[in-house]
Amino acid sequence: MEHILSLSYGKDSLACLGAIEELGFPLDRIVHVEVWATDTIHADFPEMVEFKEKADAIIKDRYGIEVEHISSEVSYEEQFYKRRFNKKKEIDCIYGFPCVRGNWCNDRLKTGLLKKINKGNICYIGIASDEPNRFHNLTDEKISPLVEAGWTEDMCRKWCEENDLLSPIYTTATRGGCWFCHNQGVGQLRLLRKIYPEYWALMLKWDLDSPVTFHADGHTVHDFDKRFALEDAELIPMDRQFRWEWLNNPPGTQMRLF
Ligand code: SF4
Repeated sequence: MEHILSLSYGKDSLACLGAIEELGFPLDRIVHVEVWATDTIHADFPEMVEFKEKADAIIKDRYGIEVEHISSEVSYEEQFYKRRFNKKKEIDCIYGFPCVRGNWCNDRLKTGLLKKINKGNICYIGIASDEPNRFHNLTDEKISPLVEAGWTEDMCRKWCEENDLLSPIYTTATRGGCWFCHNQGVGQLRLLRKIYPEYWALMLKWDLDSPVTFHADGHTVHDFDKRFALEDAELIPMDRQFRWEWLNNPPGTQMRLF
């Protein structure tokens, strides 16, 4: 039986290293599931990819363990274009964007792999001692060294800062998780379009091919694109609650008529 830390590179996950050390717990392996957007493009932003490389070097140096980066056989894009039979519509079609219910990405690209690796082993996960709403995830085989050591989220952040292991998601506008995530908010999508137009172009391409709408509220990537373009042209007031009907009738154009 091995003792494996499941590493996400978030503060709580990284701080598990400090808690494991403090508790004197055994640690045999550190595993990270790397998600790929396409065959050549990471699901993480470049800043995060860079941070992971830096963190791996620090971990190897301090703990003598090489972080294992494991990946699904398929990228997000490959799974997106895989064909399936849609029972509801009774048609053969591609997967397309993950639905909020029946979200295929997490299982196909991440958790499925971890389950295989962790089977029969002790898995360490980063749940802080002040996150009781997540304690139901803990079992005899799934242990949080942070809970065992009584480390709170603030203590984890402090430990990461002191050990030069604080991810850029806490200090910059970069979000954690996949840049193409259907669960991200409008602000993050706006930033993605602005900072990474090449990624945004890929999202627009996928949007045209997807049988599933990008956002759970029924809006497509093209809807967001139109909204952001109108904002850039100052045709949408940013100090008022946005209304989707403005896409066809932007208030800025009415204002200009008078
Ligand atoms: S971050 Fe979003 S896109 Fe990536 S696996 Fe999780 S739910 Fe899916």
